[in-house]
Formats: sequence, C-alpha cells, structure tokens
Amino acid sequence: MTEHSRAYGLFIGGKWETPAGAKTFKTLNPATGEVVGEFVAGTAADAKAAVDAAVRAFPAWKSTPTPKRGEILLAASQILRRRKEEVARLVSQEMGKVISEGRGDVQESIDFIEYMAGEGRRLQGETVPSELKLKFCLTVHQPKGVVVCITPWNFPTAIPNWKIAAALVCGNSVVFKPASATSRCAAEVVRVYEEAGVPPGVLNFVTGSGGTVGNALIEDPRVRGISFTGGVDTGREVYTRGAKGLKTVHLELGGKNPVIVLNDANLDLALDGVLFGAFGTQGQRCTATSRLILEDGIYDTFLRRLVERVRALKVGDPLDPSVEMGPVASADQEKKILEYIQVGKAEGAHLATGGSRLTGGDYDRGHFIEPTIFEVRHGMRISKEEIFGPVLSVVRVKDYKEAVRVANDVEYGLSSAIYTKDVNLAFQAIEELETGITYINAPTIGAEVQLPFGGTKNTGNGGREAGSAAIEEYTETKSVFIDYSNRLQKAQIDTA
Ligand code: NAP
Repeated sequence: MTEHSRAYGLFIGGKWETPAGAKTFKTLNPATGEVVGEFVAGTAADAKAAVDAAVRAFPAWKSTPTPKRGEILLAASQILRRRKEEVARLVSQEMGKVISEGRGDVQESIDFIEYMAGEGRRLQGETVPSELKLKFCLTVHQPKGVVVCITPWNFPTAIPNWKIAAALVCGNSVVFKPASATSRCAAEVVRVYEEAGVPPGVLNFVTGSGGTVGNALIEDPRVRGISFTGGVDTGREVYTRGAKGLKTVHLELGGKNPVIVLNDANLDLALDGVLFGAFGTQGQRCTATSRLILEDGIYDTFLRRLVERVRALKVGDPLDPSVEMGPVASADQEKKILEYIQVGKAEGAHLATGGSRLTGGDYDRGHFIEPTIFEVRHGMRISKEEIFGPVLSVVRVKDYKEAVRVANDVEYGLSSAIYTKDVNLAFQAIEELETGITYINAPTIGAEVQLPFGGTKNTGNGGREAGSAAIEEYTETKSVFIDYSNRLQKAQIDTA
C-alpha cells in the first residue's frame, strides 16, 4: 500500500461500518500499480440495509424546506472547494487523468453542486390557466422517494455529484453505488456530503460489484428511481430490470462522437480542438472525439499536421504537470483498447500513428497506450463501435452532405462538432446532426453544468442530466387544481 492508501467501510444510516466478515477489494493506481484504497465488497444484504436506511430517512428529508436542502448543498460545494487539490490528486491517482483534468473533474462537481444549491430557492413549477372560471391550476415537483445512483469510473467525482446533488435538492434519499475501480474518489464525495450536514440515511454508500450490489438495489421494490451512467450493454440490463418494477430509469450511455472539419475551417483551431477532444482523458470521456471527418480539400494537410502534433504528446505520470496524457484507467481498459487496435489492423485500416502499448522504464508499471490514429473507411468496426481509449478514426468525405451522413450513421448520439466559417452550414449542422449536444468551432467535450447533458439513439433513453432538465429526472410532477367557485364545476358543461 502507498502512504496515501486508506480503507473504507460502507456508509449506511450515517455511519461508516465494515460488516463482520466482509470481503474486501482494492483499487489500483493505473500509472504505478500501487494500492489507492481498500473497500467492502458489498452484498445484497448490504444493499437492502442501505435501502432500509434511505426509506427511514426519506419523510423527514422530503419535508425539509427546499432552501434548507440547498443550504446543505452549498456547504458541500464549499467543503469540496477547500479540498479541491487533495481530491483532484486522488482522481489522477485512482483513474489516471492528468492533474489539470483531475482538477477539472472536481471543479465540475463544485459548479454543479452550487448550481443545484440554487435550485433550492427555485424548483419551479408552472402556473397555467384553467378552462373553468374561478379555478387555479399549477404544478409542483415532488421527490420520487428512494433513488439509486450508479456511476462509471471516468468522471469519478463529477458524475456522482451530478446525480447526488440533483437527487438531494429535490428531496429524495439516495443509495450510491460507484464504479468499483474508483471507489476511493466516490467515498471522498460521500464524506463531503457527510461533513456538510446531510442527515443520516439521506445519502448511503455501498461499494461492490455491479452484478451483486447494483442488481439488488435495482430490484428492491422500495426504490422508485434509478440514475445510471455506464456502457450500453450494462445500461440495457439495468433498464430491463428496472422496467420489471415499473421504475423510472435514467440512462446515460456510450458515444462515438464525430468532429467534422470542412475545407473553410480555421485549421489551427480545429487541430487544437481535435487533439484535446480525442486524447484528453486518454479518450475515455463519453464525449471524447473518436471520429474525425475531414473534407477532401484539407484531408492530407490536416492529417499530416495532426499526426505531427500527436507524436509530440507527452505521455506519462498524470501527476507531472508537463504530462499531456496519462495511463488508461485499468488493465481491463488496456486489454480492450489493444484488442480494438488489432481489429483496426485486421480490417485493413491504415495506422497513421501509434498503435502499441508503451513499454520500458516507468511505463512497465502502468497501463500506457500510444495515442493512435487510424485512417478508415466508414463502416469498419473501429469507425462505428465505442473504443473508449486514445484511438481516433479519420474518414475522408467529399462534402458537407456526406460528412453529416457519416456522422449520423452510428448507433450513438451523444456529442458532435463542426469546424467551419460558413454560418449557414453551421446552423444546418445544428439541425441535422443527430446528437444531444453539438459544438460549433469547439471540440466535442466541454459540458457546462447549467445546460442539459445527454444523447439520442443508443446513448440513452431520452432523459437529460444537469441543467434544469435534471429536476425532471428526480421528481414527480404533481398537477394541482384549486377550485374557489364554491360549487361543483364540470368541464364539458361549464365551459360552454
Ligand atoms: P459499466 O461497466 O457499464 O459500469 C458502470 C456502472 O455500472 C459501474 O458502477 C458498474 O459497477 C455498474 N454495473 C455493472 N454491471 C451492473 C449490473 N448488472 N447492474 C447494475 N450495475 C452494474 O461502464 P464503465 O466501464 O464504468 O464506464 C464506461 C462507459 O460509460 C462508456 O460506455 C462511456 O461512454 C459511458 N459513459 C457515459 C456517459 C454519459 O453521460 N453518456 C458519461 C460517462 C461514461 P462495477 O464497477 O462494480 O462493475
């Protein structure tokens, strides 16, 4: 274990506890192989205990005035701001993001918790006219009850906070099941809310495998809402299980995000954007640029310049501020990405740069892969399937129309971007690109918490995280009719 390594229990009913005889698991630093933390491998019984606690805590939390709930969130954001550097370093150590991106992960958490703290003084419903005289109509948001949040490892603090802060301000009690690989970052998120004064049982934390803890939580009949971010296969399973209990299941799944660069684009700007979008976080963002669609006129020049820039990227220890790309997140990730690189080679894609595991010296302790670019024919597997690593597929197209057709011809629809100076084409692209997010002259990454976040097609099931849209995910809307006529009014008769 490293000097920083720590052991954590489960957090249930306001207490950190390790159940007697519990099995444990460890998380590892993907750059060095050192142990980052040790956690309880939760069981179905632990999941049930967490739901028990959440059920008990719900009525009092629901009736806590919403501005008061917002105040507790504001305190949480201030605590996290104070601890930003320490938690950012943990993100780099447990997940492998370079330290500037570790800070970004935590900053996004702070921003979102602050934003949701503000919702404590809004949580707006609607007032709408009635079709009858002397009658008043409005809507109010009410919490669902017990909500389960299941998160991936790639934004180990931001995604948990996006879910937890929204669920809490709306008055739900929460059971949080993090990605096993980043359980320490998740535990620190929970500690922030604990310190901020979230009452016992309102936020519960159960570590352990998705198959065991996740399934037990989803199948518990007392759980009313599930918010899940992860891969499409897991999402499908979660959705199916949740559907059996007629639960609301909010899914944020994979992406195969395209950047289109047209002949008239500012190429310097586009180069910076593609480099950051494709190789930031080692390509392990759901919004990472994994496809580059180049118009014929600039294809050769742009690709040559991109390859030069990519070969100069510094790959190494994510805590070294001069490093631009860290390790991929785990041995499993490394294996999957290297398999896809083999698929690309076998399909006959042209390897423009990279394509191997980095070895020698410190690289041998971790999971380092060269930033990789393939020139592909659209339709090859590597041009359509999510790789979730530092592997970019480049496609040549003859014009804007073909670019949009290629961009849309995948199962996913999370993020897209176009670089052009033609305002007409930019607006057409906003209309025609089948994604939940579109950037004009900016990379496919760079969400802001005050806007809805989510995708179309197999990226999800229509919900949106963040922004005011998040409120819809964590509340039931109640319609209220107030009749002050003092007589029985019947719609069909009295409107005549
Ligand atoms: P994953 O393997 O699907 O796991 C996600 C979470 O689900 C983890 O907490 C996992 O627990 C849990 N889980 C696994 N099997 C489960 C089951 N049967 N029932 C309930 N929960 C289960 O995904 P990942 O590898 O962590 O994350 C990468 C994926 O997330 C990529 O596809 C990426 O595009 C997607 N993602 C999407 C967004 C978005 O907003 N659209 C954002 C970020 C990431 P364990 O860790 O214990 O297995």
